[in-house]
Order: sequence, then structure tokens, then C-alpha cells
Amino acid sequence: MQNMVILGATGSIGASTLSVISANPLAYSIYGLVANASVDKMLALCVAHKPKVAHMVDEEAAKQLRAVLPAALNIQVTTGINDLLGLVTAAEVDTVMAAIVGAAGLVPTLEAVKAGKRVLLANKEALVMSGELFIEATKRSGAVLLPVDSEHNAIFQCLPLEVQANLGRCDLAASGISHILLTGSGGPFLRSDLATLAAMTPAQACKHPNWSMGPKISVDSATMMNKGLEFIEARWLFNTQAEQLKVVIHPQSVIHSMVQYRDGSVIAQMGNPDMRTPIAHCMAYPQRIHSGVEPLDFFKVGQLSFYEPDFERFPCLALAMEACAQGQEATTVLNAANEVAVEAFLQGQIGFTQIAKVNEACLVTVPKRPMGCIEDILALDAQTRVYARETLASIA
Ligand code: NAD
Ligand code: MG
Repeated sequence: MQNMVILGATGSIGASTLSVISANPLAYSIYGLVANASVDKMLALCVAHKPKVAHMVDEEAAKQLRAVLPAALNIQVTTGINDLLGLVTAAEVDTVMAAIVGAAGLVPTLEAVKAGKRVLLANKEALVMSGELFIEATKRSGAVLLPVDSEHNAIFQCLPLEVQANLGRCDLAASGISHILLTGSGGPFLRSDLATLAAMTPAQACKHPNWSMGPKISVDSATMMNKGLEFIEARWLFNTQAEQLKVVIHPQSVIHSMVQYRDGSVIAQMGNPDMRTPIAHCMAYPQRIHSGVEPLDFFKVGQLSFYEPDFERFPCLALAMEACAQGQEATTVLNAANEVAVEAFLQGQIGFTQIAKVNEACLVTVPKRPMGCIEDILALDAQTRVYARETLASIA
């Protein structure tokens, strides 16, 4: 029996994780659920799943939850960073699903890593911000890190055991691997007339053709910043050189990524686009459990197609690859800028194509200094957000 904490329990990955747990009640139990502020959703999850602890990051939300939660459930409601860190490091906890969206996920995820937990990593922004430090902490504590992001999970499944066992420090060439092929659908605007992009609305950007996800990652998929963040995530997880990593547009999202070997073999992982598959894989690894996902029907799929990415259409992808080449300061700046820009777009403050403009302005302008610890990373993140908000004000 694995005892789990779910960070980001009220989100899209949280829901898929809870669904896989419900399908395997004898193998998993829920120790803690963590969310930001949505009291109604957390209340419903508490009633359905009966965790020992429900943690709300927002203090007011914690008060409201305490007031409405039936006492008979005997669930402890906590708030505040100390309780959050205490929850992910608690001795009773074996596994932490890291599925808070954005930079807010970094500190609790890293704490779970330091405590040597089995960490199922959906929160890609944590690695984008703190890659080297994160991998180092994993090695030091002996934490088992398993990638939930569908592409990284696919790559993981296509890699030899010696690489799987040595994430972050592996030597791909020594294992006969020539390239990692990171696939991406191209999102909702893959075929839209370029002239129409500036006027695209949040509702249009969030309407992904294949995946159902939270709003931030949906917008990131429309700009392909998501693939850029994943490029950086792959760089850290698989210890890649830039030339070992290629982005391939694959609109059907049936192949979730591939590994190309020296002898000409290419191994791909396939399945329906449903996050319950990579989540179930991480939860049970190295075993296999039921996820509730329909088997892939190749006769329904019919065709698979592949294209090179178009950097004119997707400038955010180019920016992320450039930041990845520059190093961790640049990727931290880009991530923070992008969070501010995407939020502003979702709030109707800026247009779709202005997201890339804000990101580029921050990447060029924010002074980057060497970062030796988590505090340095958080300070650069905060400084970038200030600059990004000034940039918003000047273009809005
Ligand atoms: P979502 O918006 O649906 O849910 C976000 C969750 O994070 C919610 O539970 C929310 O309460 C919580 N949260 C938000 N701000 C917080 C804060 N400041 N402190 C603590 N909790 C906070 O997002 P999602 O789509 O589930 O994505 C979650 C993470 O997983 C993201 O990093 C995303 O990139 C990654 N991911 C998602 C998918 C997907 O299919 N949804 C796929 C791959 C990776
Ligand atoms: Mg992904």
C-alpha cells in the first residue's frame, strides 16, 4: 500500500490521479490533498476520498473549509508553508504527486525530493527553474523521481533500464542513444492563418485539439511554450546535449515521444492522449496497473503525421530553446515572465502574440547572476515578475 500526497489535488492532473487511485483502491491510499483556494472542489474531494489532511495554501480558504467540512470525516485542515512542508515530508507518506501549476510548486516538490520520497513529477516548472539543484537534491537523498509529463514519461518508457535508474546523470551516448524526439501536437493554432493569431481569445487558446488540461498549460500549448518548457525539462531529466534533443510536430498526439538509437532503431511510446496512462505508469513503476484509459484503436487513428516546428508561428519555442542553451538563470527568467504574461492574457490584459513579446523582453533585459541556492532562484523569479508586470503596463 502506497500512502500518497497530491499537490494540486483540485486541478486536472489531481483529478486524473484520484481517478487512477480509485481504480486501484487496494494499492494506494490518500494521506494528504493540497490545493490553493478552491474550497468547494476540496470539500467534494474530502467527502469522496477521505484524506487524513486537507491543506489549503490560501488561509481564508482553509478557514472556510474547516467551517463546512463534516466533523465526522475527522480530516485535519492545515494552511501555511510550514504545515505544507511538514505534510510532504511526513514519515507516513511514501509518494508525492507534484501537480501544482507553475513556480508555486517548486518549494514543496523540492522538499519532497530532499526527504527522499517517491516523487511523481508533473510540475515541469520546478525543473525549468531549478534543474541542476533539483537533480543534485534527488541524487543526494536517493528520492525516486518519475516523470509524469506525457512526453517525458514516454521517453522514460523507451529508455534502457540503466538510464531509467540514473535520471539526470545518465549518459545517453554510452547507452547507444543518438536522439530524443520530443513530440508535440502544435496545439489549436497549428494551421491558423498567422495574421489571425493576434486576435485569438483565451477561450480559443484553451481549446486544445487532443488534451484536456488546466488553463496555464493550455495557453502554453497554444504558444508552444509548453514544448519549450518540456525541452528544458528533458534537458535535465535525461542529461541531454542540445543536439541530442529534437522537437517533432505530431498533430494526432498518439505517439507521446520517441528515442532514436545508434543502430537505426526508433522506440516510440503510444496511447490515447489521456494523462491517466503516464500517471498510472509512475504510480506503479516498475509494475503496470489499470488506468481506466481505453486501449488505442489503430484503425480509428488511421494516420500519423510529422512536421518540423515553425519558429515564426511559435516564437516562444525558439525563446525556450535559446534560454536552455544560455543556462539556468535564463530558463528561470523565461518561466517567470511567461507565467505573468499567460495570466495577463487569460485576464484579457494583453493579446495572444504579446505573450512572446513579454517573454522576449524579460529574457533580454533582466540581469542574470549566478544562482547557487533555492533563495537565489526565488529572488530572480520575483525580480523577473516585477519587470514583466512593468512590460505589461507599457504594452497594454
Ligand atoms: P490546473 O490549473 O488544472 O491545477 C492546478 C492545481 O495547482 C490546482 O489544484 C490549484 O489549486 C493548485 N495551485 C495553483 N496555485 C497554487 C499555489 N500558489 N500553491 C499551491 N497550489 C496551487 O493545472 P494542471 O493542468 O493540473 O497542471 C498542473 C501541473 O502539471 C502543471 O505544472 C502542468 O504543466 C503539469 N502538467 C499538466 C498536464 C495536464 O494534462 N494537465 C500534463 C503535463 C504536465
Ligand atoms: Mg507534456
